[in-house]
Amino acid sequence: MGKLFGTFGVRGIANEKITPEFALKMGMAFGTMLKREGREKPVVVVGRDTRVSGEMLKNALISGLLSVGCDVIDVGIAPTPAIQWATNHFKADGGAVITASHNPPEYNGIKLLEPNGMGLKKEREAVVEEVFFKENFDRAKWDEIGEVREEDIIKPYIEAIKSRVDIKAIKKRKPFVVVDTSNGAGSLTLPYLLRELGCKVVSVNAHPDGHFPARNPEPNEENLKDFMKIVKALGADFGVAQDGDADRAVFIDENGRFIQGDKTFALVADAVLRENGGGLLVTTIATSNLLDDIAKRNNAKVMRTKVGDLIVARALLEHNGTIGGEENGGVIFPDFVLGRDGAMTVAKIVEIFAKSGKKFSELIDELPKYYQFKTKRHVEGDRKAIVAKVAELAKAKGYEIDTTDGTKILFPDGWVLVRASGTEPIIRVFSEAKSEEKAKEYLELGLKLLEGVLRS
Ligand code: MG
Repeated sequence: MGKLFGTFGVRGIANEKITPEFALKMGMAFGTMLKREGREKPVVVVGRDTRVSGEMLKNALISGLLSVGCDVIDVGIAPTPAIQWATNHFKADGGAVITASHNPPEYNGIKLLEPNGMGLKKEREAVVEEVFFKENFDRAKWDEIGEVREEDIIKPYIEAIKSRVDIKAIKKRKPFVVVDTSNGAGSLTLPYLLRELGCKVVSVNAHPDGHFPARNPEPNEENLKDFMKIVKALGADFGVAQDGDADRAVFIDENGRFIQGDKTFALVADAVLRENGGGLLVTTIATSNLLDDIAKRNNAKVMRTKVGDLIVARALLEHNGTIGGEENGGVIFPDFVLGRDGAMTVAKIVEIFAKSGKKFSELIDELPKYYQFKTKRHVEGDRKAIVAKVAELAKAKGYEIDTTDGTKILFPDGWVLVRASGTEPIIRVFSEAKSEEKAKEYLELGLKLLEGVLRS
């Protein structure tokens, strides 16, 4: 039997892999599973990002759900975390998001959600897959076909975020924030949220447009070169950029400097753990040791998982975690949404900034300093097996290793991670240390071990 789902949902080129027929069958398969689990009239929340193919796919998915007898709450265009929040808020039996996150405009995809808004559990994904490929759908009788109701979730989602931060402190400082929502779903929420929090807001690329005319929706340094100049030129306190479905938020300081996601994650984690008097921080093995420093400072524990936001979310739920996140600027507030939430992250950062009285660059530069190096090698063949051989080689040489995801070699003051990409024919090597020289040394060691395996 084929495999539908990747690390979180299914993605591909719209109208090639992700066709209306595909979305229809996904809706039928998901709805069939919900019905077979014993719910008489399951309710499913459905929403999408701003992609051109979004409306077509959403309508097909909804048709599939209705045809097997599910009712649908159509929330239209909204950030992925808002749709996750709404699934929980409406006490629905499940949710579905039509999005391809940060991928280029020709892509689209479908993420299915648990009633609590988290991505679908693995066991249930397997059931949806089985129904999908066997096509043994439970079609409803004509008078049991589902109904659709539309709901606006933008306002209640913004209100829910506002209730979780100190608006008084923000209004007192009135931060000047420039936002770039990449013409994506965040265009409907982030500029308004910031204004209502009491910020002065200038927005760019904030008209919803699924062609993504301004920039590639992936908020990395390369794609934000122009935005970095804008933030500095306007004399803003800081800038925020989002990806297409607004589950991530990436920051630019007042000098136009791109801030790595693990630094802003550390700022948020520090505040949240302090407020909670400690707790459990969940992150991936690819995130900076900075997060260990932050946890220690707050008497909190750290759990490191495989790479992937859904994996972090699942661990947070299972172990009652306090805060979670990744190095790419995705932060998870498990008591709000069991998934990365860009807008909630921005609200918390604005609050931290307002209360501190410091410049944004000062907040970042006060964090414990680490140096990082990243590189990659083009590798054909079984990359996972190659990475496993790197672990054997490192072990034989007496190094301490962690094989949670890829091969991570641990040193007292840093680490190097050798990991196969899940989507491209490459192996990444990523190092970190307290000094630049050591970080470089560890990167070279990782590369040397990898090349040793490739030659053998
Ligand atoms: Mg995203």
